[in-house]
Amino acid sequence: MNISPSCMDETDPNALTVEQALQRILERCGPVDGSEPVGLHDVLDRVLATAVTARLDVPPARNSAMDGYALSGAESREGTRLRIAGVSAAGHPWDDTLKPGECLRILTGAVVPEGADTVVMQERVTARDGFITLEADCAPGSNVRHPGEDTRVGTEILSVGRRITAADIGVLASQGIGEVRVVRRPRVVFFTTGDELAPLGQPLKHGQIHDSNRYTLRALLSRYPVDFIDLGVVADTEQAVRDALARAGQTADLILTTGGVSVGDADFVTRLLQREGEVGFWKVAMKPGRPLAFGRFGQALFLGLPGNPVSVMATFSLFVRPALLRLCGTEPEAPWTLRARLLEDLRKSPGRTDFQRGILERRQGEWTVRSTGGQGSHQLRSMSLANAYIVLPSESRGATTGDEVDVIPFHSVF
Ligand code: AMP
Ligand code: MG
Repeated sequence: MNISPSCMDETDPNALTVEQALQRILERCGPVDGSEPVGLHDVLDRVLATAVTARLDVPPARNSAMDGYALSGAESREGTRLRIAGVSAAGHPWDDTLKPGECLRILTGAVVPEGADTVVMQERVTARDGFITLEADCAPGSNVRHPGEDTRVGTEILSVGRRITAADIGVLASQGIGEVRVVRRPRVVFFTTGDELAPLGQPLKHGQIHDSNRYTLRALLSRYPVDFIDLGVVADTEQAVRDALARAGQTADLILTTGGVSVGDADFVTRLLQREGEVGFWKVAMKPGRPLAFGRFGQALFLGLPGNPVSVMATFSLFVRPALLRLCGTEPEAPWTLRARLLEDLRKSPGRTDFQRGILERRQGEWTVRSTGGQGSHQLRSMSLANAYIVLPSESRGATTGDEVDVIPFHSVF
């Protein structure tokens, strides 16, 4: 892999664009091997390994869309009087054939009997002494649902690589399918690095901060169909980082780390991977989240995220998420972007794409967005307050109140 130097001036000619970095990552990511059968209760968000074909027509039989009366379309004119021959309720079909001059009391979801092809709503008839009289014409064929109108037997209903939704689970259940084969959960092993990191529940000594990245990462990962192992905080020594990488490399499909990927004296992660694995260290022309390491260690893919908490989240949303989805066997969608009216002026330096944290809100029929305030990579509250990125393109120097800007809602990237 190409290893490039890492000076940090604003317009670095060696820096990759976000799209280039993503493309390089995705080129190296494919689905993990292995699949398993999983029941419907546990299959939400898993990725299908084998296509599913409809084994039933749904609905299986002609049935009524209304509470009313089933009759023949030949006897559906205003004023027609018909004898009520029986009742068809959901789950209790009337198994006779309707004769001329007859109708059937029918309820929603009940089978429409032979001899009938139309259901008239109960509000459109007068019923008395075992007879109905139609109060208006009813178009032949009205209010009848036909077999296979939802799903036809033999149709492929879910294809390989589908990330299963609640609607999909309903469709599977409607087919009587209680279990499907899904891609095994990729194993993600992660750790944070830094001698300054103190555990929670312990007072901070001078120079210490609490380790927030590991908690954020765990929460981010829990949204994906992966198994993850947290190796904790790893000290800024070559030995500690080597041991952690070796442990991670034994089981992981993907190793995630935070911190230590720059070229400071205590930045061992990239250096070790250069020597003992395979790594590309990139500056990505974006803010936040510039330094990013990507490579392999043993069998595992490796993504080394920056240390700053906002950069961790930004690189997760833009690079780790698509890589994870690929490992899980499904194709990542491009982030959903919408245009919103900017409610304040924003400044930036040209030469990098900014993903500023914003609050996206619908006001008087229009999407609006404003900044969450301080945008430093260490200011994690800017993420906590935000619900969207405001994307300011590389060449721009900012945007002005009233401009339309691109916004990526967090729903689509986390
Ligand atoms: P590094 O890339 O290791 O030089 O870290 C960059 C910045 O992020 C430093 O200010 C670190 O203290 C901070 N940082 C690194 N790891 C964490 C973490 N796990 N939680 C919170 N802040 C961190
Ligand atoms: Mg560090």
